Amino acid sequence: MVSMIDDETGGSVDLPRRPAMRFRRAAMRSLSRRCPYCGAPGIFASWFSLKKRCPACRTLFAYEDGYFLGAYAVNLVTTELLAFGLVVWFLVATDLSVLHLQIIGVTLAVALPIILFPVALSLWMALDLALHPPGQGSGRPRT
Ligand SMILES: [Zn+2]
Repeated sequence: MVSMIDDETGGSVDLPRRPAMRFRRAAMRSLSRRCPYCGAPGIFASWFSLKKRCPACRTLFAYEDGYFLGAYAVNLVTTELLAFGLVVWFLVATDLSVLHLQIIGVTLAVALPIILFPVALSLWMALDLALHPPGQGSGRPRT
């Protein structure tokens, strides 16, 4: 495990060195709506928006334009596949009418991307963190 004070921001980042372990720690933090870098809560300004920086470690979350575009795409594809799978499960496991299945399908297709949007944003940061560790020479500015 690496516990370091980032030279660029002065914030404390506590992550393992190995990429798989770093992703696991950052993903677990992300799933609980915490900063993937330091684990601090309160990184969301609202359900749909992150704060510009972590309130604890001061990491700049979207360090370039379009940074979260991949998160939007992954969120949409993943949640639509999940909705499709749930509707197929309802079709096979229940005796619901086609109308009810359509209502459930449309509701899931609209609601799931909205419900899981914050998770997608923070998981995207966790994936980026696994590939680009913080610190000198990472090529990822944090200020
Ligand atoms: Zn942080």
